This record gives sequence, C-alpha cells and structure tokens, in this order.
Amino acid sequence: MPHIRPSWDDYFMDITFQVAKRSTCDRARVGAVIVKDKRILTTGYNGSPAGQPHCDEIGHLMVEGHCVRTLHAEQNAIIQAALHGVSVAGGTIYVTHQPCITCAKMIINAGLQRVVYAGHYPDTNAVDFLNAAGVVLEAYPSVSDEQQVDEAPLETN
Ligand SMILES: [Zn+2]
Ligand SMILES: [Zn+2]
Repeated sequence: MPHIRPSWDDYFMDITFQVAKRSTCDRARVGAVIVKDKRILTTGYNGSPAGQPHCDEIGHLMVEGHCVRTLHAEQNAIIQAALHGVSVAGGTIYVTHQPCITCAKMIINAGLQRVVYAGHYPDTNAVDFLNAAGVVLEAYPSVSDEQQVDEAPLETN
C-alpha cells in the first residue's frame, strides 16, 4: 500500500478528535483546534474551569436541560489564546461538533474566518450568526467510522 498523505483538513480533524478524548463531560465529548497558516495555535475540549471538579467525577450541573459546569471546547481554545497572548484572527477552528450560539458569537468576535465541524448540533441560530458574520462554515464530510462522534444528546452542554 502506498503511503497516502492526509489532507490538511483530515490532519487537523484527526487531531481535533484526539483532543476531544480529554473532555470531562460525557454529555458530549467535544474537541476544538485553532489553526492559522497550517499551524496549530491552541486546542480546547469541554470541561470544568481550571482546578474545579469534573462532571465525570461529581456529575453534571444541570440548568434548564443543559450542563453548565463546563466551558465549551471552542471557548477553551479561544481562552487559551487570550491566556497566552496569541491572535487567532483570520484563523480556522476545527470542532468535533457544530458550535452552539454562544461559541458562534465568540468565534465571530475572535476574528476566526472558518469553522470546520464534524458532528451535527441542532443550533440554527449559531449557523445564522456565523453566516451573517461572513464566517465560512463547513461540514467535514469524510469522518471514518471509528472517529464518528458518539450520538450526542440534543440538549448537550
Ligand atoms: Zn457535564
Ligand atoms: Zn458551545
């Protein structure tokens, strides 16, 4: 078998699925990777604020059908950029799930230009906001079976 190099999208999405494995909320294990000029700037997965106990240890913190204990993967990736003083403007964010409305708004204001996501998440407001802001939103088509996102509950996070 000849060696087949992955495309850039395949490469970064593979890494995004690895990042998602660090998630600490089993309602959905989400990963995000921010890339600019073919280089990874930051990564994030959904989990509790630093130093606080995780859903997987003490259970979810449910408010109106959502677990509010965690920061979302996209938020953690953007916050990591702020923490380290890295501009993500003009970059791409790879995510295992389509962003929610809150993450969409943060993506817009962080200056990210493109979102590549694998799993569906039913938040049409997020799609509308990203479209209105001119952020390119692309469904990632070629996820292999073992990488397929677990069927996440619709009310995730
Ligand atoms: Zn949780
Ligand atoms: Zn979100």
